[in-house]
Amino acid sequence: MPLTNVAELRAYLAKLGAQPKKSLSQNFLIDSNIVSKILGFADVREKDSLFEIGPGPGGMSEALLELGVQLTAVERDRVFAKALGSRFPTCQVFEEDILAFDLDQLTPGSKVVANLPYHITAPILTRLTPRRDLFSSITVMVQEEVARRLTAQPGSKIYGSLSVYMQFYTRPRYGFRVSRHCFYPEPNVDSAVVRFDLIEPPLDDPDAFFELVRLAFGKRRKMIRKTLGSPEKILEAGIDPTARPEQLSLEQFIRLYKQFIGG
Ligand code: SAM
Repeated sequence: MPLTNVAELRAYLAKLGAQPKKSLSQNFLIDSNIVSKILGFADVREKDSLFEIGPGPGGMSEALLELGVQLTAVERDRVFAKALGSRFPTCQVFEEDILAFDLDQLTPGSKVVANLPYHITAPILTRLTPRRDLFSSITVMVQEEVARRLTAQPGSKIYGSLSVYMQFYTRPRYGFRVSRHCFYPEPNVDSAVVRFDLIEPPLDDPDAFFELVRLAFGKRRKMIRKTLGSPEKILEAGIDPTARPEQLSLEQFIRLYKQFIGG
């Protein structure tokens, strides 16, 4: 039963006695072409280990299983978690909060695919991206504006500490825009699909590094010599002390970190 058209989905929700919950960001994807496009962009192949966050009624889960993957899913909504487990016995379903879920239960080398619950996009991504030991790639649908920030490059107004974070742990790629009309119920904004291929992080002490990055972006309109002090150290790092944080690349932040904190 494909759940990628409104009529089928509404009938299925009625059968489960479920109403879409705003508190869990339940906007379900109802366009099978978009589902196929996401799985293509994520490069999903037969026998891959896949991890899906928030499968909901399971439209994307079904498409994944048809491709012959090993699927594990975490869904907070009891009704959907139970229904998915009984519809697809080969799928391992955990009824849990992704932010509390013990990731170490997963198969190393898994690919993550999800239409994320938008209200917790950043906490989910910052939790998953440092786990290169578990995940090879993370392909997610997020709000379009967030997708732009996650993949922003230096010099752009939306480039910030989250963009630096994603570049530190991954190679980010903006995929494609998805209209709000492809969801039920329809959200107020468009979405986009982004893919992150996990890489070896360039430093061993990420916490101290990100403290420096957040400090710099705390006053994003100020020159870094005002926020960080020590213009000599900034010059030593080969960076113009009058630069603003949004102009600095990951490599330049790393050079600043080495001057200010060590490494
Ligand atoms: N994958 C489905 C689709 O594409 O139609 C549903 C996507 S919907 C945007 C987000 C899903 O995440 C919902 O099914 C919701 O119940 C689930 N969810 C929300 N918060 C969650 C959490 N903290 N942990 C796990 N799942 C969560």
